[in-house]
Amino acid sequence: MKEIYADNNATTKVDEAVFEEMRPYFCELYGNPSSMHFFGGQVQKKVDEARNRVAQLLGASPEEIVFTACGTESDNAAIRSALEVYPERRHIITTRVEHPAVLTLCRNLGKRGYRVTELNVDGEGRLDLDELRGAIDQDTAIVSVMYANNETGVVFPIEEIGKIVKEKGKGAFFHTDAVQAVGKIPLDMATSTVDMLSLSGHKLHAPKGIGVLYLRKGVPFRPFLVGGHQERSRRAGTENTAAIIALGKACELAALHMADENGRVKAMRDRLEKELLALIPHARINGGQAERLPNTLSIAFEFVEGEAILMLLSEKGICASSGSACTSGSLEPSHVLRAMGVPFTCAHGSVRFSLSRFNDDSDIEAIIRELPPVIERLRQMSPFGREFLDK
Ligand code: PLP
Repeated sequence: MKEIYADNNATTKVDEAVFEEMRPYFCELYGNPSSMHFFGGQVQKKVDEARNRVAQLLGASPEEIVFTACGTESDNAAIRSALEVYPERRHIITTRVEHPAVLTLCRNLGKRGYRVTELNVDGEGRLDLDELRGAIDQDTAIVSVMYANNETGVVFPIEEIGKIVKEKGKGAFFHTDAVQAVGKIPLDMATSTVDMLSLSGHKLHAPKGIGVLYLRKGVPFRPFLVGGHQERSRRAGTENTAAIIALGKACELAALHMADENGRVKAMRDRLEKELLALIPHARINGGQAERLPNTLSIAFEFVEGEAILMLLSEKGICASSGSACTSGSLEPSHVLRAMGVPFTCAHGSVRFSLSRFNDDSDIEAIIRELPPVIERLRQMSPFGREFLDK
């Protein structure tokens, strides 16, 4: 069975060219880049090259790139740093739809006495910027708003948000979790209001276990990991050289493929969306009226369970994911769809397809062929579904 992988917001295939780039740095060129000898020095050169490549994709300078272990670490490092830089400030602003890498940390800080404002979203997943304007005050240490949502693909107006933070924030830091945006849409830190940005290698065809914190020049920073002087004392720990080199290559390729992402990949997503809506009654797109990433489709089918859809699709070789998280044995609809006010019956039956440059038209055709009978079958099995279909 050929697998049809449409779960690229969860993780991506390592590009073979990326793998080839990193391969020598395990068994042959395994020197420590901090070593004085030639053997470490040649690795240091490749790490520098990778730093340049990442910076190029972001429109940043190489000194602004700090390698970390993952997107989660970058998010945690950014928020904790802001609170250490401003120990007297006790207010954090974020959104209700952040990834747990931000939301769980903020909620934990909330339990430890910080005031946390979680901005609301409307039914399409969009923020109300007036709510941000009203929330920000001289006690705000950091505003952390994701660039694009991992479940719906909804893109936030990061530069407009940054302007508000700069105007009203009295020096508050502005951080964005751009884990889902980097490589999919163009970013330019040179002209941006962002102080700190997180990205993760495994979302853009590099391996798991490598991330970046972009740290604007001049922005004060307190490191999350302390110890050695790696990454100019901004992140201690011997560098994950092979993964860093891989991420550099992945960023170079992402820049090359950006047009494809916004052309061919978007066209495949749009076709999938249009044909599923035409073939399956009582389906709606989550965030369909908002600006979205070109690769993401979150679609809700009333009166069916997302998990059941995924299981049946998986039997056909199709990998997608649902908008639900299985918590303590009960099926909770996702916090993102709940924040958007998606009705319970739709939130439960939501499925996310997320594409990449490695998908092709035959994948889209297979999903369009296999999904409608799956939904039909599940609706026939469900007492609610039958009642609803009989009407
Ligand atoms: N932020 C967002 C928006 C994500 O989608 C993810 C991963 O799914 C993360 C952060 C966490 O990244 P990592 O898996 O590299 O820790």
